[in-house]
Amino acid sequence: MKLRHSLCLLTLFTATLVAQTPKPSPATEPDIRFKADVLLVVAHPDDETGVSAYLAQLLDQHKRVAAVYLTHGEAGHNNMGPERAAALGAVREMELRHAMTKLGIDNVWFLDGRDTPTQNVLESLANWHNGTALEEVVRMVRFTRPEVIVTWLPGFFIGENHGDHQASGVLATEAFDMAGDPTVFPAQLAAPVHVNETLFDGLRPWQPKKIYYFSDAQEQDQFKKTGPEYQVTEISPVRKLPYWRIAVEEFEFHLSQYRDYIEGLAKKDDQDLVKDGWSDPVQLTFGKSNVGGSITGDVFEGVSSEPIAFVRPAEEVTKPTIGISVELAGPWGFYDTFRRAHGLQHLPQAAVPEIAIAGGATLQMPLLLRNGTAISKEITLSVTSPEGWATKDGVGSYTIRSGDELPVLITLDSPKNAESKKAEVVCHAQADGQTVATIKLEVHLGTGGLPQY
Ligand SMILES: [Zn+2]
Repeated sequence: MKLRHSLCLLTLFTATLVAQTPKPSPATEPDIRFKADVLLVVAHPDDETGVSAYLAQLLDQHKRVAAVYLTHGEAGHNNMGPERAAALGAVREMELRHAMTKLGIDNVWFLDGRDTPTQNVLESLANWHNGTALEEVVRMVRFTRPEVIVTWLPGFFIGENHGDHQASGVLATEAFDMAGDPTVFPAQLAAPVHVNETLFDGLRPWQPKKIYYFSDAQEQDQFKKTGPEYQVTEISPVRKLPYWRIAVEEFEFHLSQYRDYIEGLAKKDDQDLVKDGWSDPVQLTFGKSNVGGSITGDVFEGVSSEPIAFVRPAEEVTKPTIGISVELAGPWGFYDTFRRAHGLQHLPQAAVPEIAIAGGATLQMPLLLRNGTAISKEITLSVTSPEGWATKDGVGSYTIRSGDELPVLITLDSPKNAESKKAEVVCHAQADGQTVATIKLEVHLGTGGLPQY
């Protein structure tokens, strides 16, 4: 009773004190605690693994590193308990937070995207309600004001080739080009009009200076010289460990995904870990710079602490369709347009469009047929594929009116136990008795991995 009485008195005293204290003037400068030099934009908890040894170097250089995760990785597996779906997302968020704290990164945000386990970037974007996710990423760029964005490479490569990885790279690239534009998502830039504002963010436009990518492609050699390469065998003067070892320590928190491997680490010596690729350099791919610098030069080459004005991306010139054209559509077609729209034609891409699917799975080959002639045309599609493959659907003749276009989905059943793991599937398009297009797709048959769609 006495204690309650004294608490009441304390409350009364505090209330009187508050009433007498002059109202603080509202803060006008953006919150400095969340300013980042580098913003990592990725899809799942553990995606940082590919660059964590480099991030550790940045932290040693007193760079401020923050991270945004588009999903909670709830479609992963769980080797620690029965929790799945949203509950697994909760598990993985906490694993990631512990891992990043160990690394030295506290400013980590999760957005509302759902984990989409396919290779199709368009499915990931759709599942994230594309524009909603873009608005969220733009908000995080304006909020954290990074000099440099590091993200997944938007492209289609054999490897893990996760659609979510690609989608986070797509959105980060779009946000790089949009966050400085005062006409984009203006409610984020509007000044609050209520004391308890719930609609206007009170942010400012922010133009990042550079964007770099990293990839989950199986064949990493193709990215050599496409950007700076960071050795990770040097000893951190702060932690007295090689940078790759710091990366291993960070990774050890992702138990739900890699329990067996992590529990086996105790029995592995440095040589084993080197064999596992931990000491491989971190290879980045140069995306864009608004402050000059060379392709393979240091990420911070040309970067000063002075903010820069919005750089409007060059207008894309749409190619008119001349004659008849038949092109690979779906994610492949999207990337062709995306690279041009964002001035990223230099980004590495497979010489022949490629994909890996499980043996026995159905392959989808999306095509776009266009007729740029003055009259209706009949286009006939046929497919050649190695022995054991069976064309299911999509071949035949299509009449397309002048100036029109038509999406066609060709599907093929792949053999379960093919002798060769590599197959070239070729679509031939004919019109007026002539070949108008030959579209190749290189298909690797594996035992699993992510489905195509
Ligand atoms: Zn991932």
